[in-house]
Amino acid sequence: MSGTLRVLPLGGLGEIGKNMTVVEYDGRIVVVDTGLRFPTADMLGIDLVLPDFSYLRERAQEIEAIVITHGHEDHLGALPWVLRELGLDTPPPIYGGPLPMAMARSKLDEHRMQDVVLTDVDDGETIEAGPFDIELIHMTHSIPDSNAVALTSELGTVLLTGDYKFDQTPVDGRPADVSRLAELGRDGLLLLCGDSTNADRQGFSPSEAGVGPHLVEAFGRCEGRIVVTSFASNIHRVQQCVDAAATLGRKVALVGRSMRKNVNIGRSLGHIEVPDGIIVQPREIDDFPDHKIVIISTGSQGEPLSALRRMAHNDHRHIKLHDGDTVVFSATPIPGNERAVNDTIDRLYHIGCDVITTADAPVHASGHGYAEELKLMLNLTQPRYVLPMHGDFKRLHLHAQLAESVGIDPDAIFQGENGLPLEIDARGARFGEPEQSGMIFVDGVDIGDPADVALRDRRMLSADGIFIVVATISEQDGHSVVPPEVIFRGVPFVEQADELIEEIRGAVEASLERAAADGIREVDLVQQELHDDLAAFVYDRLKRRPMVLPVVVEV
Ligand SMILES: [Zn+2]
Ligand SMILES: [Zn+2]
Repeated sequence: MSGTLRVLPLGGLGEIGKNMTVVEYDGRIVVVDTGLRFPTADMLGIDLVLPDFSYLRERAQEIEAIVITHGHEDHLGALPWVLRELGLDTPPPIYGGPLPMAMARSKLDEHRMQDVVLTDVDDGETIEAGPFDIELIHMTHSIPDSNAVALTSELGTVLLTGDYKFDQTPVDGRPADVSRLAELGRDGLLLLCGDSTNADRQGFSPSEAGVGPHLVEAFGRCEGRIVVTSFASNIHRVQQCVDAAATLGRKVALVGRSMRKNVNIGRSLGHIEVPDGIIVQPREIDDFPDHKIVIISTGSQGEPLSALRRMAHNDHRHIKLHDGDTVVFSATPIPGNERAVNDTIDRLYHIGCDVITTADAPVHASGHGYAEELKLMLNLTQPRYVLPMHGDFKRLHLHAQLAESVGIDPDAIFQGENGLPLEIDARGARFGEPEQSGMIFVDGVDIGDPADVALRDRRMLSADGIFIVVATISEQDGHSVVPPEVIFRGVPFVEQADELIEEIRGAVEASLERAAADGIREVDLVQQELHDDLAAFVYDRLKRRPMVLPVVVEV
């Protein structure tokens, strides 16, 4: 037993999201989760945030396996970039439950990485990966096929819980494998790396099964159409929304790309059952009376281009909300999304919709266990060492306190951070020297640090110049009130400049008229439309991609 076990979190500590952990024994590596985070409002021009995995780039050859605990973006989403950046001819084997693997497959297909091999692992099955035995242990969470990962080397077993709750009555009838967790504890667990997301909530989390009856009750009070929004990946919630609609004799329309995709994947794996004839297409909604329709939509987090946000801004192709409609938020905002959600809710009221949130009725149950469940996990597995994960520093700290409260030696509880490896050998456990960690940004399909984005902007400017278009629209009806101003710098065309400026003015006017006719009022959305229309127009005429900066002023 001369080896050293290293557990190096590259993401998910001191933050919510981009979970990724490197577990290493004598230089051989298993990566658990490759998650991402969505950018905050101040990260302009950034599409996604990934953990900085430079550490792995330098050690790509040493990776024995990548294991995905479950299909949420903050655990799976970075996989295509990680695989691409590792630059291996043969990527390491990738393991996970059937649903996360199906979701990974669909992601990799979108990135044209069809040849990557993904292997479904059943819980309870053991796989060898270098010095490790990998075992998946079934857990309950807000997405099916969620697993904890036990990695056993000759030094002992590390358990990474992934996201979990102890739901005694899960919708699919499969509670967490408590007896296997207890067995690990009896055999002597070396290290527990546990989810801290809800360490600040007292007691036990409510069961997912409790949400269904509340949905039926809330839906039953609605006289008009119902729009219910939740995470598309929360397949059991979507099931309960479908069931509630069926109970009340309403048809169901699925709206939003990820909602349709996840329901399809869920149906093909048998995680969701949809009664025959209940589904209608979004464009058919108007063929049914309002009291016969439930729309299940994406956008519970107020995401800018999501179906619900578009509906709230009167910008959805098939659905025009009106008074009498009720929107049910069967989700709570992830920290950081509160403003976008509140903005969406306020727009809905403006249209005349009724809005039901978790403040009005228990139409949501968290997928993460509360304090008593974290204690239960600690008591079942009786770890020698504890490293709280998945949470901001406050929740990591509260998780550490919970560990202490159930009798774990305070010296055996490690409050870590991203990039700080916990090293365990026969003599004990301690933090090692920090490794590179942080975030990297994805902009479209390119990857880089923020300096690279600035660099890209500058490159674009130097090669193709910039167009600034200032449009002034009426706050009342969105129509253009003065001719748009077109300013350009560094655009390599001179001959037909005047003519082109005129044409661009025309294109701007046309784009604004279209937006006005579609009832789009929000300045952000108008600018987005204007940007897309103009960029296409300019490329069409000049075969160049200058930076296009639309500025819309409301008067
Ligand atoms: Zn998570
Ligand atoms: Zn999760």
